[in-house]
Amino acid sequence: MVDCIFCKIIKGEIPGKFVFKDNDFVVFHDINPKAPVHALVVPKQHVESLREVNETQVDLLGKMMLTTSKAAQKLNIANEGYKVVINNGKASGQLVFHLHLHLLGGWKEAAHWQV
Ligand code: 5GP
Ligand code: ZN
Repeated sequence: MVDCIFCKIIKGEIPGKFVFKDNDFVVFHDINPKAPVHALVVPKQHVESLREVNETQVDLLGKMMLTTSKAAQKLNIANEGYKVVINNGKASGQLVFHLHLHLLGGWKEAAHWQV
């Protein structure tokens, strides 16, 4: 999508600090981290949020979770533990309307905030 900031990062039009890339996903560091390690797991396909997905995208959603697990290992936050968050819609705090999963970790003890 033309005016989507994450589509621009995926296409290389805006720089991103990438952790991982394959045919379906990119993972890059959040520009304004809310944890010692904060990466975004983003499908290359432009989908606004979980509210728009349907049965044809079940494989994509499954792969999103597997990609998250692999990225957590690559970022060395898997052993200690990490959180995943997906904001969907304005009231949840979603600011970028291209589906993405926040991968948060790097704490040494229990995270200082809980859901
Ligand atoms: P949301 O609130 O939509 O779930 O999260 C959007 C996230 O994207 C925020 O955590 C914000 O810091 C991050 N973000 C916004 N613009 C950019 C950008 O240009 N580059 C990167 N790497 N992250 C961004
Ligand atoms: Zn997009």
